[in-house]
Amino acid sequence: MKQKINLLIGFSSVVLIALIAMQYYLVKTSYDYKVAQFHTEIKEKISKITNDFTDIDSTVMSSKDIYYNRLLKSYIKDTNFKSELKTKLLANPYRDVLTELLRRKINLEFPKNKIDFAVVTNKFIVFNSQQKADTIFSEKPAIGNILYGNLASLDNAFSIRNYVGTSIGDSNYKLLTEETLFVSVKNWEQIILQRMATILILSVFSILILITLFVIAIRALIKQKKVSDVKTDFINNITHELKTPLTTLSVSTKILERKEVQENPELFHSILETINRQNTRLQNLVDQVMSNSLGIEEIELQKEKVQPNLLVKTIVSDFELAYPNVKIQTEIVFSEITLLLDKFHLTTAINNVLENAVKYGCQNISIKTSLENSTFSIGIQDDGIGIAKSKQPLLFEKFYRVEQGNVHNTKGLGLGLYYVDQILKAHKGNIKVVSDLGKGALFTISIPSA
Ligand code: ADP
Repeated sequence: MKQKINLLIGFSSVVLIALIAMQYYLVKTSYDYKVAQFHTEIKEKISKITNDFTDIDSTVMSSKDIYYNRLLKSYIKDTNFKSELKTKLLANPYRDVLTELLRRKINLEFPKNKIDFAVVTNKFIVFNSQQKADTIFSEKPAIGNILYGNLASLDNAFSIRNYVGTSIGDSNYKLLTEETLFVSVKNWEQIILQRMATILILSVFSILILITLFVIAIRALIKQKKVSDVKTDFINNITHELKTPLTTLSVSTKILERKEVQENPELFHSILETINRQNTRLQNLVDQVMSNSLGIEEIELQKEKVQPNLLVKTIVSDFELAYPNVKIQTEIVFSEITLLLDKFHLTTAINNVLENAVKYGCQNISIKTSLENSTFSIGIQDDGIGIAKSKQPLLFEKFYRVEQGNVHNTKGLGLGLYYVDQILKAHKGNIKVVSDLGKGALFTISIPSA
């Protein structure tokens, strides 16, 4: 069964991880798609306003053409001008005007986004009459080749479009230029995330629900398994406990049937006594199961005004008489407080804890009472075998015993502490344990006065 649960946990974990990975893949794909969609949107809009730069300002654009022509002519006149040409091109006189014009236009089109842009030059090629290209420069788009715009880097920018232009220097020379417009949208990640909010929230929510359901199911399964183990143990225990008296009773009745035994009154009486003893043992076992397995809703309390200190004192002195070999130390503080308690049930509950201390190997018991914040507490500390921390969560469950399986050094049905817990709950109080294996155990019973 344990192996099956482990297998189930392993398998479900793998499925859960696969589902999370799938969800991640879907979200990532949808993110990439949204990014591409966003770029297309921006591209389309910006392309529209920058299709033809003459829309922006025809005078500036024509002055730009004139400038290119001038550069071309200077080059035709003196090819040594080649080295200076790029610097002159980048330090063009229309840079500020065009930057400002384009900025205004973009701002008008995208009032909600902050968009930076740059137009960089990539190619400046002069053809002579023999169509022989004289490449002045041809480079990959770089921010260093910015003609105009307000972008400081191309890192987060994306290209909108290329502009290829030609101009004629004279009958022998032609010029070919290529420029690229780059834009970068500030906080574009945030914009995409906002657009994906529903998908993100739904997927995180569904994954969380799935994990929660998984944890609840596994916990319920483990608890079920523990409860079922505990019940099997109880059945084994009780059958074992019933077997001895039943066998003795059956053997004794058979002996009684014998004539020679019937004729011997002494032997006859001794067998009768054995039958009686076993009968009482059976009766006690049944009583123990009947009374100690009552749940809180089935317990009917007969409450009366009791001075708890006095009650504890009486229980301790009766206990000392019953177990003369156990050393008991008490620290019972005097107080006038009276509580409404069921004397019978509470006495049985405290006795259960004291008897457990003896049953589980103690030599010394120390009993302390205290009254704090109108709550009366009794601490019962023993120096017995103690209880491992891992075993404590189920300690007050019905039929739970620390020693499980069929290996039991001490007899018991696992009902004592369950009964104590139920009685205290019926008094609106509680019982807590502090212990560790080999370090004794401290059981603290608390009952509120109100
Ligand atoms: P039972 O004693 O019949 O087994 P209880 O409900 O009284 O059942 O106790 C549950 C389990 O708690 C016991 O089986 C025992 O292992 C552990 N236990 C209870 N009291 C003590 C104690 N004082 N010291 C060590 N173990 C204890």
